[in-house]
This record gives sequence, C-alpha cells and structure tokens, in this order.
Amino acid sequence: MRCYLCAIEGKTTEAVAICIVCGMGVCMDHLVRDEIEVWEGGYPFPSKKLKRKLPRILCKPCYAVYHEG
Ligand SMILES: [Zn+2]
Ligand SMILES: [Zn+2]
Repeated sequence: MRCYLCAIEGKTTEAVAICIVCGMGVCMDHLVRDEIEVWEGGYPFPSKKLKRKLPRILCKPCYAVYHEG
C-alpha cells in the first residue's frame, strides 16, 4: 500500500501504517503516533476498565480533527 497523502502530492511512498480512523495508508512523515482515549463504541472492552491510554496511529488530518477544541 502507498501513502495516500503522498499520492495526493504526486509522490509514491510506501505506507508503514494504517490510520485507525479513516483506514488510509500513511508513511512515517504522515502518521502521528499518539496516546489517545479509547473511542466510544470503538473497542471491544469497556473503557472504564482501562487505566492507561492506548498508543494508536492516526494520519495527520485525523489527528488534527481529534485534537480540535
Ligand atoms: Zn506520506
Ligand atoms: Zn486518518
């Protein structure tokens, strides 16, 4: 899979990860690995039992949306 964001810019960079939100492939330059809260309804175990946040990989556009407000 190629990085979607690079493809838009006309580059062909191999993707190293997949955004958990939108599912597109992203290269090292376009991913954000962040410790985010477990999303409501998005995981098979109850979030209240989690003591720590889980590291997840998002693409930069999704990361920006998540951290808005
Ligand atoms: Zn890229
Ligand atoms: Zn995304």
